[in-house]
Amino acid sequence: MMDIRSYFPLLSQSVDGRPLVYLDNAATAQKPQVVIDVVNELHTSLNGNIHRGVHRMAEQCTERYEAARESVREYINAEKAHEVIFTSGATAGINLVAFAFGERYVGAGDEIVVTEMEHHSNIVPWQLLCERKGATLKVLPFADSGELRTDLLPALISKKTKLLAVAHVSNVLGSINPVDEIVRIAHAQGVPVLVDGAQGVQHLPVDVRQMGCDFYAFSGHKVYAPTGTGVLYAKEKFLDEMPPWQGGGDMVKTVTFDKTTYADLPYKFEAGTANYVGVIGLGAAIGFLKNLDLDAARLHEQELLRRATERLQEIDGLAIYGLAPQKCSIVSFALKGIHHLDVAQVLDKQGIAVRSGTLCAEPVARRYGLTGMVRASFAFYNTLAEVDALAEGLKRAKNMLS
Ligand code: PLP
Repeated sequence: MMDIRSYFPLLSQSVDGRPLVYLDNAATAQKPQVVIDVVNELHTSLNGNIHRGVHRMAEQCTERYEAARESVREYINAEKAHEVIFTSGATAGINLVAFAFGERYVGAGDEIVVTEMEHHSNIVPWQLLCERKGATLKVLPFADSGELRTDLLPALISKKTKLLAVAHVSNVLGSINPVDEIVRIAHAQGVPVLVDGAQGVQHLPVDVRQMGCDFYAFSGHKVYAPTGTGVLYAKEKFLDEMPPWQGGGDMVKTVTFDKTTYADLPYKFEAGTANYVGVIGLGAAIGFLKNLDLDAARLHEQELLRRATERLQEIDGLAIYGLAPQKCSIVSFALKGIHHLDVAQVLDKQGIAVRSGTLCAEPVARRYGLTGMVRASFAFYNTLAEVDALAEGLKRAKNMLS
């Protein structure tokens, strides 16, 4: 097999004469050549707006867009292709549910449960819903180790609970949450579950039917696909019962000034011109993943995680936040007495790209009494040598900054 890195042209870049060490994969992943080629092909020789025209380019784009839907369906093992809604990202998918589910099922006095480790995208849409409807947001805490306190969940759910929203994998702590168990607990009390898969689907096998979740949202750009693409999986029952989120072209059957009827699923939830170029690119990314030995890729990511945890823990004054036994390849940390932004900038000067700040999950930083952290996140194309470069780079940063 070809070296996996050679499929990703961006990775061979240099930064100020040093090889780029890209460790910000949880923010966005780099793209394989097949994805770049598809987007280029569509823009150079095959561009026609989907679901509208009868000319051949429009028809071919429509076919490829729907083939991408089928490809995603198969990848996450959804039962029906029309349970796969294309969105602009995980954020849009969660907002869609917060609005449409909220309109249909949530009223004054109801409750929504989220967890303390959620990304802002899985907190704020629920807060907006609660404000709109006079509902209350309840929060399931996590332990110091980064593990969710699922033991507290049964008591947190009540007759007023209308939905539970939880990350498959925390974008800060890396914890893999026991979503199957959470779904079981919630469903036992009749509560539907939304799983935010933005950090899950690129690291773990996802089978939405086995998981039993009612909604699963993720972003294309984190799974090696173009930006501005995403998927919301939702059970047909909810898609049937919920009102549309946005109105516009393509989501209607008939429109008169007296009454509008909506298109069948999934189009009822895909108003306006879709990002069909991006979605066809997402189809190419999924095709690329299907051709990989994903078990080997996942084992390699675990090896990167192990090595990074070990090497970083050797550094005096460095604390890792999130040491759950079940983790994906995300390592967030702070160096005692040194600002996270300074650390990230000194690493950048060495060609090492990491993320710093509250990582769009401010409650997690606050939980540990921090104003921010540094995060290194690894994809299967990263190498053990890059992990070592990070550890050495951090030692240099520490010497310079302390
Ligand atoms: N949820 C989690 C756990 C994330 O890590 C992210 C992005 O970092 C999101 C949601 C939002 O994804 P996007 O900004 O692509 O919509």
